[in-house]
Amino acid sequence: MDRRHLLSDQDENPAPQYQSVPSSGPVDPNQPEAGGATAPPADMMDKVPGYEGIGIGGYDLPYQGPPQAPGPGSPGPPVGDWRIPSISEEVAKEAFLEYAASKCCYSKGPAKEMVFTDLQAHNTYRYRLETFTESRSTKWASEPYTGQIVDGYMGVPPGPWDIAVSFPTLFQDNKKEVRVPHTSSVKGCHSCMSLGRNPCRKCVTSGMMQCWVCNGSGRRFSDDRCSHCNGLGRVRCTSCAGVGSSTCGTCQGKGQLLCFIKLVVKWKNNVFESVIDRQSGLPMDRISSVTGETMFTDMSPVVYPVTGFPDNAINQSADRAVKEHQAQYFSSCRILQQRQTIELIHVTRVHYSWKEKTHIYFVYGAEHKVYTDDYPAKCCCCSIL
Ligand SMILES: [Zn+2]
Ligand SMILES: [Zn+2]
Ligand SMILES: [Zn+2]
Repeated sequence: MDRRHLLSDQDENPAPQYQSVPSSGPVDPNQPEAGGATAPPADMMDKVPGYEGIGIGGYDLPYQGPPQAPGPGSPGPPVGDWRIPSISEEVAKEAFLEYAASKCCYSKGPAKEMVFTDLQAHNTYRYRLETFTESRSTKWASEPYTGQIVDGYMGVPPGPWDIAVSFPTLFQDNKKEVRVPHTSSVKGCHSCMSLGRNPCRKCVTSGMMQCWVCNGSGRRFSDDRCSHCNGLGRVRCTSCAGVGSSTCGTCQGKGQLLCFIKLVVKWKNNVFESVIDRQSGLPMDRISSVTGETMFTDMSPVVYPVTGFPDNAINQSADRAVKEHQAQYFSSCRILQQRQTIELIHVTRVHYSWKEKTHIYFVYGAEHKVYTDDYPAKCCCCSIL
């Protein structure tokens, strides 16, 4: 049957196509596939050259392609003015007022009346390495056969890494599914024995089910005839409308499936991030949420770790990051692009006095976020009581 289809249908469409399986936008790789079509058993599939070991699962394939090594060395960070300015008192005060206003239980008094005693710069650097990788896996897939091109025996399927798939925006996770050329064939549907319909489970193909009003007795209140089933005790099955069977969900009633190898291409932006701890007292996890001032960006298919940055901790982070990502991704994935950035993150420790007591707060990031754990006048609403 399959061969007949091959001979009749496909000869009119000999051009091999890299057909993209519909997939809209970024897809959560952990989500089950939509459509609900169950995959046919692997042992019913043909042997496809180059894809002999393929199962239903789909595991990431080791990268096979040109070696991935750094290109010409990048010039390294430019020599510039690395002196670090501090924020002004006006900016510090404004940020503190906004902070107090954002908390419903904080009195604005301290923020308005405080007197600065010291502003200390504890600015720090954030190093970030992004490695944008592509990984590929293959698996058997199927869809209802409705006359699609069947190209199973028309040529040799290209290897999984030989299929050209254009990649989406750099440094953004994404996923695409592509039908591997020369792997499709038509098979009878395994779910319905190629019948296109499955027996109704609710009525066991009878088309009738027990009347739920009289529980099958045909009578109500001892001897009144049940009006719902006219005394029959049985009514038409609501699940199959009395037919006794329902359309097969796997083949959508077609009785046949187009089976093919699906190539799943996943793009992932892997990020290594490190912030130098200046022991300023500001919890380090706060810094991950703010923006810094970009001082250096280097983008290349494979980057060299930054060297020669005035703060050696950054050079060390870069070295570690590049080595870690090379060990993690270079043998298993295709590296599309790497980017390393160094950001300056402003952190100012503000000392002030209010009502003859001294306190501190931090202003950090381009957003001028405020952090403090000893705001002197919390719960103004409660203190009125
Ligand atoms: Zn009844
Ligand atoms: Zn039924
Ligand atoms: Zn079916």
